[in-house]
Amino acid sequence: MSDEVDISNERVSEEREQLLRVMDEKVRSLQNEVDMLRKELNYYKTEMDKLLSPPLIEATVLDVLDDGRVVVRSSSGPNLVVNVLQDVPLLKLRPGMPVALNQRASAVVELLPNREEPVVRGMEIEERPNVKYEDIGGLEEQIRQIREVVELPLTKPELFKEIGVDPPKGVLLYGPPGTGKTMLAKAVATESGATFIHVIASEFAQKFVGEGAKIVREVFELARKKAPAILFIDEIDAIASKRVDVGTSGEREIQRTLMQLLAEIDGFKPLQNVRILTATNRIDVLDPALLRPGRFDRIIEVPLPDAKGRERIYSIYLSKMKIKGEVDTKTLAAESEGLSGADIRNVCVEAAYVAIREGRGFVTNEDIKTALKSIKEKREPKVKERAEKFI
Ligand code: ATP
Repeated sequence: MSDEVDISNERVSEEREQLLRVMDEKVRSLQNEVDMLRKELNYYKTEMDKLLSPPLIEATVLDVLDDGRVVVRSSSGPNLVVNVLQDVPLLKLRPGMPVALNQRASAVVELLPNREEPVVRGMEIEERPNVKYEDIGGLEEQIRQIREVVELPLTKPELFKEIGVDPPKGVLLYGPPGTGKTMLAKAVATESGATFIHVIASEFAQKFVGEGAKIVREVFELARKKAPAILFIDEIDAIASKRVDVGTSGEREIQRTLMQLLAEIDGFKPLQNVRILTATNRIDVLDPALLRPGRFDRIIEVPLPDAKGRERIYSIYLSKMKIKGEVDTKTLAAESEGLSGADIRNVCVEAAYVAIREGRGFVTNEDIKTALKSIKEKREPKVKERAEKFI
């Protein structure tokens, strides 16, 4: 009897254990299900939050004030002075940075990732260019004019407001290749603490087929973002040549690009912190629309250097080189008639190679004469051509 009771107790306990295991299993599986449902619920909750949250306003930081507020330009219109939410790292805020404002546009609620505009890849941007006026030889008068119309309105806009005149929006530099037009534009950016943005107009039309006008818009938008900025458009004749007809689709595309460029220039407020400089080797082919009042009001010729200019350019480059003995820059300049600043720099570089070839660590007057001879031989046909065109 007792044996029988024992056996039945054992069976009951076995069955109970089995039942417990099954129940445990069931609880675990239910728990998994709960976890999955919770995850699903969270997913739908965040999706709902996204759908219900009001849209934020995109803006660009213009300035960070001492009291912790920031000046922003909102994508919807005016410049605003707004607070910054505690969660946003104030120290990270810099002018030019994209941020999001709440819907009433009363506070910065988050930093946005910096999106690199596609156009940026094709152009050169120097936040801190370092060409100085003293690096440029023989263009004192051009430097004076450029400072007056570009640097002064950027550094002292109040003077113009006080007198009540609008400074020119743009300057057109023209002259043969290698005479220092790009250098001038870079130097004025350096000296006025502006960002230097260099674009080549032919790329507006060629690199981005069908998108020239859009690229122009984006370049101007970028210049405004990077203000104070000098926007230097080189080879402007590529999109601004006068044409008799606009028959082919390529010509129509160029025409549209030019129209957009003119619209951007016209839409500019003269005292906005962006100055436009353009350059061409072919002023004779430019569309007169570009030269209409209110556009490029200052037209500055950048000619081949005269004897004094050439001497100065030699001095600039030779002063940076190791020289032995006397160098007669006056005679060198006299013998370099027709050469541009870029050619003279090449003479100096070539002279260094002459010395290096002879195993020397310094340059002599003879080396420079040898280099000048070889550069002139290479350049002879071009020099003649230029002299005929620009005399
Ligand atoms: P392009 O019309 O071909 O664009 P550019 O007139 O813009 O030519 P730069 O690019 O400014 O010429 O000049 C090319 C290089 O030649 C400069 O980087 C500089 O080294 C030298 N150079 C040209 N002109 C001068 C100058 N007046 N003084 C000193 N260096 C010069």
